[in-house]
Amino acid sequence: MRTRRGLCYPKATNDEESVRLLKKRKVELDGDFAGLRDFFDSLPDDLVLSVLCKLSSTAGCSSDFLSVVMTCKRLNGLGMSSIVLSKASRRMLAVKAKSWSESSHRFLKRVADTGNAEACFTLGMIRFYCLQNRGSGASLMAKAAIASHAPALYSLAVVQFNGSGGTKSDKDLRAGVALCARAAFLGQIDALRELGHCLQDGYGVKKNIAEGRRFLIQANARELAAVLVSCQAAAVPPSWLTWSPRRQGGVGDAGCPLLSDFGCNVPSPEPHPANRFLSDWFADRTGNVPGPGLRLCSHMGCGRPETRRHEFRRCSVCGAVNYCSRACQALDWKLRHKVECAPVERWADGNGDGDGEGL
Ligand SMILES: [Zn+2]
Ligand SMILES: [Zn+2]
Repeated sequence: MRTRRGLCYPKATNDEESVRLLKKRKVELDGDFAGLRDFFDSLPDDLVLSVLCKLSSTAGCSSDFLSVVMTCKRLNGLGMSSIVLSKASRRMLAVKAKSWSESSHRFLKRVADTGNAEACFTLGMIRFYCLQNRGSGASLMAKAAIASHAPALYSLAVVQFNGSGGTKSDKDLRAGVALCARAAFLGQIDALRELGHCLQDGYGVKKNIAEGRRFLIQANARELAAVLVSCQAAAVPPSWLTWSPRRQGGVGDAGCPLLSDFGCNVPSPEPHPANRFLSDWFADRTGNVPGPGLRLCSHMGCGRPETRRHEFRRCSVCGAVNYCSRACQALDWKLRHKVECAPVERWADGNGDGDGEGL
């Protein structure tokens, strides 16, 4: 009679065999891993740096980059080198207001110190408007502007037009127009629009309506092109491109599209991460107010606060909204305000169908 411990169950022998095989496999695997480690260690720094530079310039968000450089000491050391950080993309440096901390401040400062214009501009905006460290913020924006960073040039133009951080007498319209012209030359849409309105109004520059109109045409064309490029993968709804030869003064089409001067309905442009930070900073955090009696720019994609009372221009029709610049006013008018704006007297009369230009 055969039992479980009989010869047909050679358990002990199998165990020994399997243990031996497992040990052998472990030795092989260890050898493989050791080989891999050796292979990575043998890669020259130049090659790893070039891969990390590519990663930092194309990262969709900061975690794409940080999750890689935190995997080992070598990647961390090379990933935080100035050559890699100087290539950091706009998206990689997009900081969220709700997760702002000392460490994110230090990281942005470290990237800005490498000469990365995007980091200089973002940190400059945060320091100037949110942390109210005007001197350091303005000099960081200037550093980015010197590197021909178009949003920084435009932001400095807004500072000059408003005399932000100073008094009313610190306004320098000519300097504002000059900075705007440099940003417009680089194709910055807000700057093109601002310059167009300045020329049409003779604000800080000799009045030239035809030239102003030309800049406004260019702003609209670039705006449309930017939307078409960003939506190439998605199907473009035909309503965005509805051509209307007459300027539409009425209510915008369904879906609140941006109605350009030439009747092309396109969605509102994506705000720069620095502007989104400003909007979120003052909207989300309790206690983060610009200061007593100070207001935010009414254009939602801007987020700039006043630095002194009555700094921003008001809508001349309703007086209920205020803007840091003509570009913000023109954009918000087309995007939103034209359906809300009504003269104060008409509100009092109960007839709120005003269609003021508001510019
Ligand atoms: Zn604004
Ligand atoms: Zn208004």
